[in-house]
Amino acid sequence: MSLFIAGTIALDTIETPFGKKENILGGSAVHAGVSASFFTDVSICGIIGKDFPKEHLDFLRSRDIDLSGIITHEGNTFCWSGFYEYDMNHAHTRDTKLNVLLDFDPVLKKEHRESEFVFLANLDPEIQLKIIDQLEKPRFIAADTMDFWINSKRAKLHEVVKKVDFILLNEGEIRMFMETPNIPLAAGRLLKLGAKGVIVKKGEHGALLFTKEDHFSAPSYPQEVFRDPTGAGDSFAGGFMGYLAKTKDLSFNNIKKAVILGSSMASFNIEDFSLDRMKTLSKSEILERFNAFKEFSEFEALLVKEL
Ligand code: AMP
Repeated sequence: MSLFIAGTIALDTIETPFGKKENILGGSAVHAGVSASFFTDVSICGIIGKDFPKEHLDFLRSRDIDLSGIITHEGNTFCWSGFYEYDMNHAHTRDTKLNVLLDFDPVLKKEHRESEFVFLANLDPEIQLKIIDQLEKPRFIAADTMDFWINSKRAKLHEVVKKVDFILLNEGEIRMFMETPNIPLAAGRLLKLGAKGVIVKKGEHGALLFTKEDHFSAPSYPQEVFRDPTGAGDSFAGGFMGYLAKTKDLSFNNIKKAVILGSSMASFNIEDFSLDRMKTLSKSEILERFNAFKEFSEFEALLVKEL
């Protein structure tokens, strides 16, 4: 097993300018896990209710994802309901029903405790901390969060930042969390708090990577098919972490490649609702898109005589 992912497993109700879908497969661990499964072996840890459809578990198994860390509990599965306006850059939450998530108290089995690459997808930061405490030899931990937890559990999130290597946030979340509109300043604050790296996802406008020594700006992809942004952030994280877990190379150059793979996976995920695009995605399409990202961002140096 190479990548351990903990997060939500959800039934989402989503409305975008392209339609409304009720009770579809979603959740941060699901979007991240499926995306990562294109690159490495994945284990998912989460909780579902008795109402969770078997066909969704079958789909995750069809991606060779280890589901032994999923607990089934009496009650209903976590539900998120949200909508996107015309520009689709910001998710608006209509309702969050935590349901069985309120009873989620993960006790990791030995194989999962020994994971080296770990992604703590968007989840209650108290649970993220409980998972970190059980890890025996982590080499690289990344964590994600969202406004819901920044508003309700800010202090716990500070603790998470201190204990992980990388933190991934979207631009609205980092501004809210670090209380400044300036993204480089906000990233600097997170690095000061203890994170070794910060990734800021800017939706269709690309992503930024900050470490203490370096900075990288990933380009945006001119996406023409764009139906549902839900799960873009988690698909990004899945591609990013899946590639790092596969290569086990934490050099800055390799991390930059992982960011572009993350961006590629996010760009596919938004092409359709739920995990539908992931069901038909092939490795050759991923390769082609990665190379397109490279082409869009290459340019020549400016010579003095040209000025
Ligand atoms: P994103 O990649 O940020 O678009 O994440 C989308 C997924 O996050 C959806 O499939 C939701 O089920 C899940 N989600 C929504 N709210 C929360 C929350 N408060 N905690 C954890 N996961 C959530």
